[in-house]
Amino acid sequence: MSLTRFQALDIILNRAGFEPDTVEVPDAKISSFFGCNVFNEERMQEYMTKDAFNTVQAAIESGAKLSIKDADLVADAMKRWAMDRGATHYTHWFQPLTGRTAEKHDSFFTLTPDGEVLEEFNVETLVQQEPDGSSFPGGGLRSTFEARGYTAWDPSSPAFILEVGDGKTLCIPTIFVTYGGESLDYKLPLLKSQAFLEKAAIPVCQLFDEAITKLTVTLGWEQEYFLVDEALFNARPDLLMTGRTLLGKHSPKGQQLDDHYFGSIPERVYAYMRDLETECHKLGIPVRTRHNEVGPGQYELAPMFEEVNRAVDHNQLLMDLMDRVANRHKLRVLLHEKPFAGVNGSGKHNNWSMSTNTGQNLLKPGKNPGKNLQFLTFFVNTIQAVYKYADVLRASVASASNDHRLGANEAPPAIISVFIGDSLSRVLDDIEAGAGADQGGVEQALDLLSKIPNLELDNTDRNRTSPFAFTGNKFEIRMVGSTMNCAAPMTVMNSIVGRQLETFTKELHQEMSTGTARDEAILRILKRYITESKPIRFEGDGYSDEWKEEAARRGLSNTPNTPDALKAYVSSDAVELFTTSGVFTEKELHAHYEVMCENYILKLQIESRTQGEMVINHILPAAIAYQSELAGNVLQLKELGLDATTYEAQMDLIRRISDNINGIKDKVNQMTQERKYANEKEDASEIAMDYCTKVKPLMEEIRTYADRLEYLVDDREWPLIKYRELMFVR
Ligand code: ADP
Ligand code: MG
Repeated sequence: MSLTRFQALDIILNRAGFEPDTVEVPDAKISSFFGCNVFNEERMQEYMTKDAFNTVQAAIESGAKLSIKDADLVADAMKRWAMDRGATHYTHWFQPLTGRTAEKHDSFFTLTPDGEVLEEFNVETLVQQEPDGSSFPGGGLRSTFEARGYTAWDPSSPAFILEVGDGKTLCIPTIFVTYGGESLDYKLPLLKSQAFLEKAAIPVCQLFDEAITKLTVTLGWEQEYFLVDEALFNARPDLLMTGRTLLGKHSPKGQQLDDHYFGSIPERVYAYMRDLETECHKLGIPVRTRHNEVGPGQYELAPMFEEVNRAVDHNQLLMDLMDRVANRHKLRVLLHEKPFAGVNGSGKHNNWSMSTNTGQNLLKPGKNPGKNLQFLTFFVNTIQAVYKYADVLRASVASASNDHRLGANEAPPAIISVFIGDSLSRVLDDIEAGAGADQGGVEQALDLLSKIPNLELDNTDRNRTSPFAFTGNKFEIRMVGSTMNCAAPMTVMNSIVGRQLETFTKELHQEMSTGTARDEAILRILKRYITESKPIRFEGDGYSDEWKEEAARRGLSNTPNTPDALKAYVSSDAVELFTTSGVFTEKELHAHYEVMCENYILKLQIESRTQGEMVINHILPAAIAYQSELAGNVLQLKELGLDATTYEAQMDLIRRISDNINGIKDKVNQMTQERKYANEKEDASEIAMDYCTKVKPLMEEIRTYADRLEYLVDDREWPLIKYRELMFVR
């Protein structure tokens, strides 16, 4: 049964003093329970012999394959630890291309053939499983007779125990592949891209510091989200089905006053946040900051950055925790990129950098001019990589839901540009103008760099309109959508920067083979990159129309819709990049592309059907009922013998209601037809394009009619929760 609007509002008004009963926020210091549900190094040491622990740890750190014997020791330790903590089940936890996570629980409990009951979990169950995920998207990688997918343990991310109610399940992070080893998930390409980048970056690091032998990609994500009351959520079929509102007239007050952004966190939300943070901390997710965001009811949560694979796992886990914890608070989390028209959407900024075994952040400029050549090398190569592969990076953040954000005037545009701030722009300009030609210019530029006031603290010139910004010691990728798995853009970043560093190394060898001294050779190449990549550098307002024109003049792409943007994944450049770096085979790349197209189609199909049902089943009956009342009133006035001027307003309303009713009916019929034509096509990219260019515009037209009716119809008869209620009733 669905709630009516007024029932839902009543429920909320009666929630005064509501206390979620399951919240247990410990009094203890965070450090006393942080990571208590994680099978981390400390736990391994506790549950394994010293020798076994050392062997396993060395293998994990070097990325070498664990022997069956060692893996078995891990399995045994993991099982004992999990059971000591009360876990009864285990699951291989993986990240299929649907965007969220998947799990299939099995009990430790087992019966032997002779009837003995025991708890079992061994190396086979740890290392590989066949969860029969045949209904997860595979983009044609699995023909029906071999539809199974297999999960395989990823020892680089620690196992953890998920507590749901009283149940406890040991979760083992895994990759998800076909029988032939082709990736069906986000994790495998990410791991491969990280290995590729490391291999390409080490020789470059060693130009500056021989001691660097290991490189880690770091990711710090920032998760934005909206919260709404569960009663309101359940009373909106669109939120329930699609996570966003497909109809709804803008509220007179939205975010104009910025009062939410600067306001204090409402108490109920604060309780939710504290509860969520506790859950995160138990699972070793280092969340640290929380605050209100721009939209009414919008918030943000961010952790300390971590090694990229863990950071991705933690973000995926967080999204699940957010849903679960919200339920106990009678709240619902909207992770959608654009839950409400006319109000800011949600993103997931990805802060990306590289750090070394010597403890250096490669994107942190130093005080010492010598070190700055290292910084400059990685900095300029990253910009050059983004310049060359902007389209592939754009493709990695393309989705039906993110299309509402990118290029929609309040979030980064769909045009990729790089913002680096005044001081660094000046340094690059100086190098371009003088350095390389003579050694003096080089030294001057490096010297200048070392005199830049602490960039990390220099927040003043941050440009919020840039999709890709340097923020002192890392690049911040702001195009990523709030629902997305960060692994997709991270895989692209690692691959393109890895490829660029390979090119750099090759060019450096060439340059030096002609007798040029090393530093001069480096600068000569960087200088050329600075000139080449100049079109992608932009410090101005990314939301402005002038920028769209300017970007077109500079030859930068602007692909605001997903079906177009995704094509870059299968362009010849992308195929070359991913296959030669070993991140994707061509077959995998096409399969991933196809899954992304299918995801797009399915999302729009569900939205369009939901919207059709809502207008036919909810809006039209309300409009017709109110129109009948008006008509009855007109007839009564006529009967009283009053002249037409007395019911002029009513007549006008009746006509306007009819116009909008007819408009809806007409467009819904057209939309159904268009869906049918699109679905009859064979090729996923063509169907996606039809949904984008034919179905989506009709949804917008239908919305316009419905939103006009919301304005015309008696408030008491309006069935859907209104925007003002969704955003302001708490
Ligand atoms: P904001 O962008 O909100 O002003 P910060 O600049 O402090 O906040 O950091 C934003 C995010 O960037 C945090 O998640 C932080 O952990 C992350 N971050 C900081 N340094 C790095 C780094 N070297 N690599 C990756 N992420 C980082
Ligand atoms: Mg930020």
